[in-house]
Amino acid sequence: MTEVEALAILKRTDAIRMGGHYVYASWDHGDTYVDKDRILQDPHAVFAVTMGIAELLAPHDPEVIVGPELGGIGIAMFVAHHLTEILGKTVKAAFAEKIGDEPPFRYRLRKGHYAIVAGKRVAIVEDVINTGHTIERVVGAVMPHAGSMVAIGAICDRGAIERRHVAGVSPVCALTSIKLRTHDWHNCPLCRRGDAINIDLGHGVAFLARQARANSHRL
Ligand SMILES: [Zn+2]
Repeated sequence: MTEVEALAILKRTDAIRMGGHYVYASWDHGDTYVDKDRILQDPHAVFAVTMGIAELLAPHDPEVIVGPELGGIGIAMFVAHHLTEILGKTVKAAFAEKIGDEPPFRYRLRKGHYAIVAGKRVAIVEDVINTGHTIERVVGAVMPHAGSMVAIGAICDRGAIERRHVAGVSPVCALTSIKLRTHDWHNCPLCRRGDAINIDLGHGVAFLARQARANSHRL
């Protein structure tokens, strides 16, 4: 799959939202959001993009694909299925469980999944890599149990076009890269301008709730 084809799927599914004020899983803010749910709701889109990721990961010969809860679970299963077909051997899927109710989240492997990754060549997959925070946490959860970490796969890496690794794992195999600016929430020009934070996408609701708690403590 070419980058043009991947971008066409993002556009067709209306996954790229621009001109808003969003809160990412890292707590950073920005004006653009890649709405992965739009992709995940469309089975033809999921099939196509996970095939694209599988083709990028195949040369690295992964034996297990791990995705973070929530969106990464479906991606991991589809990518593992495609790789099983491409490589002609069973490639398993596992997921990293999210810990916490609000960002920044931590991740852990379920106990039953330790044995699946033990001694294996593992690739991590994610729908959209924003700042890399989620992938870093997932790598931290999986690496102690895996044989080796061979690659990272994603539909979209929107943190940095020139990113070569995340948490020391390379290559980062993303179907497309969309370079977007993010702002530390302490120093966000959109907040300073008074732009309303989007509460339908990303982590705006949790962010506003935390701000409300912090303000009530100051009173
Ligand atoms: Zn802001």
